[in-house]
Amino acid sequence: MHDACPNCAQPYEIEPNFYYGAMYASYALAVAVFVAVLVILTLIGKNEINVLLITYFATMFILSPVLFRLSRSLWIHFFVKYDPETEKKKV
Ligand SMILES: [Zn+2]
Repeated sequence: MHDACPNCAQPYEIEPNFYYGAMYASYALAVAVFVAVLVILTLIGKNEINVLLITYFATMFILSPVLFRLSRSLWIHFFVKYDPETEKKKV
């Protein structure tokens, strides 16, 4: 991960341990994935607990790199607002 945004120089590590809070975003995303897997399996009629757990953990294993970055991105966007003018000034 870069120390700062290459376009606008916004530091990504705002304070020490800033991304501990991303755990809350990650938890919310994991619950959303679980509900999505549950709904899809119910709709196709495969809603046994073993199938649900195996499918959920396989999905989380595959999506974990995406969810890790997405949760950090969500967390920093709670505190830093996107300003397109800042990006233009740098260029
Ligand atoms: Zn930027």
